[in-house]
Amino acid sequence: MESNEIKAAYQRRRKRQLIVALFLVPTFLGMLFLSSNPETSLFGLDYDTLGKIAFGIVICALAYSVYNWRCPGCRKYLGRSINQNYCARGGAKFK
Ligand SMILES: [Zn+2]
Repeated sequence: MESNEIKAAYQRRRKRQLIVALFLVPTFLGMLFLSSNPETSLFGLDYDTLGKIAFGIVICALAYSVYNWRCPGCRKYLGRSINQNYCARGGAKFK
């Protein structure tokens, strides 16, 4: 893969990763709220159901991150940082 393609692919992956993070923030806030307000119901769903849905969202987001958040060059997982200048393993430049 050419370096320009790697840079473009990295930006696409980074954008998708940020979208996943945007879904997770309200999910975590909702879980936090639920844990202190167990009597809450939302859209007719009770505490247990809401908890399972939130757990499902987190699992899906993690699974997607493992799949998505990889170096476009060497396919290695990119770790926790969302803003990297180069691949720590293969050395491919992202910027
Ligand atoms: Zn790499």
